[in-house]
Amino acid sequence: MAKKIAVIGAGISGMSTAYLLSKEGYDIELIAKEFSPNITSNKAAAFWFPYHIRNDERGIGWCRKSYEFYAEYANNKATGISFIKIVKAVAPGIIHDENWMSFMPENSLRTMNADELPNGYAEAYEAEVPLIETQIFLPWLQQQLVNNGVKIIQREITDLYTLQEQYDIVINCTALGARKLCDDENIIPIRGQVVLLEPGYPDHIFLDNHLPSYIVPRKDATIVGGTFEEHEYDAITINETLESVLQKAYSVDPKLKERKIIGNWAGLRPYREQIRLEREPDTNIIHNYGHGGSGFTLAFGCADSVKELVAGC
Ligand SMILES: Cc1cc2nc3c(=O)[nH]c(=O)nc-3n(C[C@H](O)[C@H](O)[C@H](O)COP(=O)(O)OP(=O)(O)OC[C@H]3O[C@@H](n4cnc5c(N)ncnc54)[C@H](O)[C@@H]3O)c2cc1C
Repeated sequence: MAKKIAVIGAGISGMSTAYLLSKEGYDIELIAKEFSPNITSNKAAAFWFPYHIRNDERGIGWCRKSYEFYAEYANNKATGISFIKIVKAVAPGIIHDENWMSFMPENSLRTMNADELPNGYAEAYEAEVPLIETQIFLPWLQQQLVNNGVKIIQREITDLYTLQEQYDIVINCTALGARKLCDDENIIPIRGQVVLLEPGYPDHIFLDNHLPSYIVPRKDATIVGGTFEEHEYDAITINETLESVLQKAYSVDPKLKERKIIGNWAGLRPYREQIRLEREPDTNIIHNYGHGGSGFTLAFGCADSVKELVAGC
């Protein structure tokens, strides 16, 4: 008989995990308090880039595996995944931590010439990366789960240890929910606020992750970010902060001033110094949470590692 598995959490971590496992023929229930569009995963920009995961060397394999997954699925327009140019810029006087480069797929980076640099920047790199339009991809992924026989249940879980008595394996993908559920103070929120401009411009992603400032052209809006506010527990936007986010973007690309503002939002990145991806000793519980600002960048690589842990259970 197929193993009975509960995946807790319906963000990108839980859904990618349930998706890879559903292809192995397990009997899966996806249980979550909230589903798309009411989750952090809907607030992501969401482009593939190793953002703030330099503390975790395992991330290199996870990021690259996810990149390969998105490359395969970008052929299917219904997924909302496409490939787009990213310009990663470094301002003058900033000590450039080059660690992120080791996360990039082989030969995917080009150093830009002096005459190609964005306004006010001393260095810049160009690559092609996946852009995952959350508003299209998350509903698509949830539908794939249903098609693959995954049962979807809306429910809050308050105790993983009693839950594991009803399943062969329980997989915990609750992100910030793990603060309470696992009494884990190592996972903290890092708030990000963004402004939405009318779509259609520019044709590439801009990123300065020191400020941070990013400009991401999606089909429904150009997302202009952002902020990196540690220990902020409310997913709210603040007008003065949004104004400074816009000013940063305008200084990089003054043409953005011509675009109408059509909205804004804030989300809480589930940050942990080390992603918790492990089987908890003496239990049937596997944890997969704490992906910070790189949940989409890591998701399918982490899901693949969870799949290996499940196979070994
Ligand atoms: C402004 C912003 C921009 C971002 N941009 C990018 C980007 O460009 N690229 C990128 O890779 N990442 C980006 N991120 C990060 C990304 O959004 C997160 O890393 C990712 O969404 C985390 O996914 P998750 O599935 O772990 O968590 P979530 O999406 O938060 O999902 C958690 C799930 O667990 C459920 N849950 C929690 N507790 C319980 C419980 N007790 N019982 C039942 N269910 C529970 C929730 O209801 C939810 O379904 C960005 C984040 C923000 C805020």
